[in-house]
Amino acid sequence: MLETKTQVAIPQLTLKSPVRYLKGVGPEKERVLGRLGVRTVGDLFGIFPRRYEKRFPVKRIGDLTFEEKECVVGVVASRGLIRWRGGRSVFKAVLRDGAQALFAVFYHQPYLTQVFKPKQQAVLYGTAEKKGKRIEMAHPEWELFDGVVPARTPHHGRWVPVYPLTEELGQKYLRQTLHAALAAHTESIPETLPADLRERAGLLDARTAYRQIHFPSSEASREGAYKRLVFEEFLCLGLFMERRRARLRQEREEVAHAADWRDVQGFLDSLPFTLTTGQKRACEEIVRDMQGKRAMNRLIQGDVGSGKTVVAATALFFTARSGFQGVLMAPTEVLAQQLYLNMVQLLEPFGIRVGYLSQSTEPAHREILYGALERGDIAVVVGTHALLDVKLRFKKLGLAVVDEQHKFGVEQRALLRKKQGVLSHFLMMTATPIPRTLAMTLYGDMDISEIVEKPKGRLPIRTLLFRSEHHRAVYRWLENVLEEGSQAFVVCPRVDVGGEKGAIAHAEELKKVFSRRKVALLHGRMKSAEKNAVMGVFKEGKADLLVTTVLIEVGVDVPNARFMLIENAEKFGLAQLHQLRGRIGRGSEESFCVLFSDSEEPETRQRLDAFAQTESGFEIAEKDLEQRGSGELHGQKQHGLLELRIGDLVRDAELLKRAKEEARSLIEKDPELSAPANRALRRLVQERFGRQKESLG
Ligand code: ADP
Ligand code: MG
Repeated sequence: MLETKTQVAIPQLTLKSPVRYLKGVGPEKERVLGRLGVRTVGDLFGIFPRRYEKRFPVKRIGDLTFEEKECVVGVVASRGLIRWRGGRSVFKAVLRDGAQALFAVFYHQPYLTQVFKPKQQAVLYGTAEKKGKRIEMAHPEWELFDGVVPARTPHHGRWVPVYPLTEELGQKYLRQTLHAALAAHTESIPETLPADLRERAGLLDARTAYRQIHFPSSEASREGAYKRLVFEEFLCLGLFMERRRARLRQEREEVAHAADWRDVQGFLDSLPFTLTTGQKRACEEIVRDMQGKRAMNRLIQGDVGSGKTVVAATALFFTARSGFQGVLMAPTEVLAQQLYLNMVQLLEPFGIRVGYLSQSTEPAHREILYGALERGDIAVVVGTHALLDVKLRFKKLGLAVVDEQHKFGVEQRALLRKKQGVLSHFLMMTATPIPRTLAMTLYGDMDISEIVEKPKGRLPIRTLLFRSEHHRAVYRWLENVLEEGSQAFVVCPRVDVGGEKGAIAHAEELKKVFSRRKVALLHGRMKSAEKNAVMGVFKEGKADLLVTTVLIEVGVDVPNARFMLIENAEKFGLAQLHQLRGRIGRGSEESFCVLFSDSEEPETRQRLDAFAQTESGFEIAEKDLEQRGSGELHGQKQHGLLELRIGDLVRDAELLKRAKEEARSLIEKDPELSAPANRALRRLVQERFGRQKESLG
């Protein structure tokens, strides 16, 4: 009888299989990998190299060039360990190749005496140095062989990957494990991209891409692998956004607004100025959106002073004219109050009643307001995040607007957008300029209106950097400006704390210096009513100088103020300085911004100089980006979405654009990605971004 041989089948792994199924991963390594967030085979394949080392050709000792890190081979001829007191030691191994010798030197690794054995072949990678007649290599990477040295291993004879996050794990271990896993289980990597798309975009297949990203056979193939994997990641991101967008854009009769452009024209004619091209376009886009049956989801991007407020007013006017209510939320009370006054002035002449709500609204007042909103007696309400109160209900909400949206958290914006559980039209405004591609990703499910140019007749703001010893001269200049009837801001980094002088002490000082002038003070420790009163006084021109903290950073608009002094300017970030400076230069006369700083740090002076050189929000944003990296910018870390594994939104902007286009056309043809060729992609999108909340807006 024939014996049936029981064959031990190699288990068919998938990307979801636990890492411990892999050769070389025992319980201990599994634990360490787990701590690094690596639980499955797929997670392991997804640890991408941070960089690569060129560990070829493998040289003979006589061929070393001493110019860069090199890979060298030789026979272990002898070795020795020297121990000092206190447990310190140095281990040296002598490698030979005929008459040539090389000393490999390792500090504090005495165990190596047990590892390096005479007659073994050693391949080292490191920086060779000539020390007198000797050749030395300190702390090289090493591999030992008892027999013939292979032309290549995972660690030499090729471009060798260097991974991030490997301290507890060791580069060598991770490299070895990944190499073995890729060799044995490539078939576990499914193809996620449809063949026609791959062909169109010129992308490698998934298996080749994974092999080549970890162990590239050339620079070109590494690039190919990188391109494929980044594209895949961006495509998933794009698909996720597009699907959300499609869902948000479902048609609903009841959101459609019935008023038309002629109504709006009447409103615009009432303004004391004509709109800039960008403002006009934004208004048209908004009106078109709101007339439709899909909830508008639009972002207005425009630098400080580009005039976003009247665009918001136009949208609110339009909603009221169509018989709906509107809500406008701002991040600070000072700004909310100012917007409120603005809206009253602009809208009430048309019989549109405007209400105001903040944390400091009296309970009795609040009750009246809530009632009026619920009955529909008030058409527009302006306020702070107090507006998110669930007890606040509208009769018929048509539009929610968020000003300076970047100051709000993701959750807060979502709450306003879905007030009362239904989606109304939604408009966000931001002055934080970011590169276009980045905006497309962050707000991938939104439409964007850009207001590029500023209103006509604005003169540039002159920005000057001084050391504090020049205060007196600057004050004389300021006195002249005040004499001409203009007003000025003086910004301090903070309010007084303990013995440390801040805005309060500074205001006292200025009262002495400018004894003929009225000096007002505004800071965060004041009560809301006080703040509003002070802002009112300044706006009406009843104070000449306003000493303040960053409270006025966003939104505040006093066109008659054309001088700004910023104390200790080095304490502010670039974006913040830009926002601050945006408070002036709003009238038709030349404005000045004086930065005081005694900082000696070259980097700081460079930063402030650069700021003084340009008024372009985009240039400043790019500088900021250089200094802080794309992740920090715009608080987008909270987005979660941007935990990209391989791609970089700034560096790989071109790929991002291509991937977004593909995503859009895929979703247009197959909204649910249910065609057989798209299913793998759908799963991948789900895996990568499925945890995301509904609430990115
Ligand atoms: P931001 O975009 O920073 O919110 P604002 O809406 O506060 O800018 O506008 C800045 C100033 O410019 C305001 O005083 C506003 O009245 C004025 N303004 C807005 N649009 C125009 C325009 N088209 N022509 C002249 N002035 C304008
Ligand atoms: Mg504004």
